[in-house]
Amino acid sequence: MGFDVVVVGGGVNGLFTALDLSLRGFKVLLLERGSVGSGTSGRMHGLLHSGARYVVTDPRAAVECIEENRIMARIAPHAIEDTGGYFVAIDKDDLDFQEEFISGLRRANIDFRIVDVGEALREEPNLNPEVKAVVEVPDKVVFARDLLFSVAISAYREGALIAQNMEVVGFELNGDKIASIKVKDGYTNDVRRVESDVVVNAAGPWAGHVASLAGVAVDVMPTMGVMVVYQRRLTKRVINRMRKPSDGDILVPYGSTSIMGTTAAIIEDPDSVSISDEDVEFLTSEGSQMVPLLAKINVIRAYASVRPLIKIPGVDTREATRDFMVIKHEKPSNMVTVIGGKFTTGRLVGERLSDEVAKMLGSAKPSITRDYKLFGANLYEDLGELDGSLRSLALSFRGSIDEDRGRVAVLTLLMGEVARDSRRRLGWL
Ligand SMILES: Cc1cc2nc3c(=O)[nH]c(=O)nc-3n(C[C@H](O)[C@H](O)[C@H](O)COP(=O)(O)OP(=O)(O)OC[C@H]3O[C@@H](n4cnc5c(N)ncnc54)[C@H](O)[C@@H]3O)c2cc1C
Repeated sequence: MGFDVVVVGGGVNGLFTALDLSLRGFKVLLLERGSVGSGTSGRMHGLLHSGARYVVTDPRAAVECIEENRIMARIAPHAIEDTGGYFVAIDKDDLDFQEEFISGLRRANIDFRIVDVGEALREEPNLNPEVKAVVEVPDKVVFARDLLFSVAISAYREGALIAQNMEVVGFELNGDKIASIKVKDGYTNDVRRVESDVVVNAAGPWAGHVASLAGVAVDVMPTMGVMVVYQRRLTKRVINRMRKPSDGDILVPYGSTSIMGTTAAIIEDPDSVSISDEDVEFLTSEGSQMVPLLAKINVIRAYASVRPLIKIPGVDTREATRDFMVIKHEKPSNMVTVIGGKFTTGRLVGERLSDEVAKMLGSAKPSITRDYKLFGANLYEDLGELDGSLRSLALSFRGSIDEDRGRVAVLTLLMGEVARDSRRRLGWL
């Protein structure tokens, strides 16, 4: 079976690329070795960045974040809670950073408000009463699976096939081009072949490995981060430490829990991550400087994932840019790779990758994803076209005790159906 574009990787970057290209009229197949969201995107921290975190150290990433923060809130309102965020100064070093921070917010055009400490403590009674200064910014919370499944289902409805448990294990080259992609079926272990005019490598921290299968070197710096989940939601807003990005400086209220993160350690293999007691103690200790109650409530669990950062010799993990890079390879000349980025900027990555692919395929059609309401934004209305039994199961959540929790359940059901139908149409069932 032949495609215009095969996208490797079902994380935020690959999914938005598949959606963008389908909307431009291309025939698209997305291959994911596990399930959609099983990589870094389904294990992130939950913060839809306002960009404030990066205004001093990474101003380009900051500007991209604030623009995408506004777009995401428009196209995926169902997957976002508009909590707002506080940056809090706890000690003198934080206070010394405040002036530089505020100049950066102005330069990046991020709305902010200096909040009276008394008001901040009334609004967020669990904040450290010793807090010295507070700045409010438009941080938001993004529910990872809700967003990822919505993008995947939208891409499918626009014509893309989304195949899960299909791992790219090799490329066959003809001259300077990829002629076919070898894919291992995780259910049967069969190796199948797919043909495509262009291959997009959006394999996140595994992008270096996928590129190496085509004989190309790509400099990814896999950087692991740990997050700790606490039993209760302790704040209405995202709470950030007012200092240069460092370890343990963000607390995200995620549903009824609080999630504290994160750390940054370069690792060899993105498939082998480990979490130590010290990580949990460190994050609890840092977090409790902002919200002291954190040290007294139960830790439910911890999880970890790996950033696909751009490797630049001599630059360490915290200095490394959070921006992304689209690489158009010379050989194979029909492959494009992306590394870096944030969950927040996944739509923009999809747009830039698709611009590059459209150029390669001789199309001038522009991206329309910035104005495209994702499936799920009006979930129960969007269910209209489903077949009977799935539809009545999904609709049974509406008006019930589980209507809100039901959204991700319904999206999961639909995601399963999308993956099954994609396999059926590929003849791989
Ligand atoms: C600890 C941590 C916290 C973070 N928190 C935030 C946050 O709060 N806000 C934010 O904006 N950003 C955050 N980020 C950054 C953000 O999560 C990542 O930049 C983003 O999710 C990367 O998306 P991706 O699509 O590039 O990679 P991934 O989500 O990893 O997707 C790549 C996919 O490719 C698949 N794959 C790999 N190899 C193959 C193969 N051979 N064949 C087929 N499929 C393959 C993988 O299974 C995976 O699903 C965080 C990152 C980390 C590590």
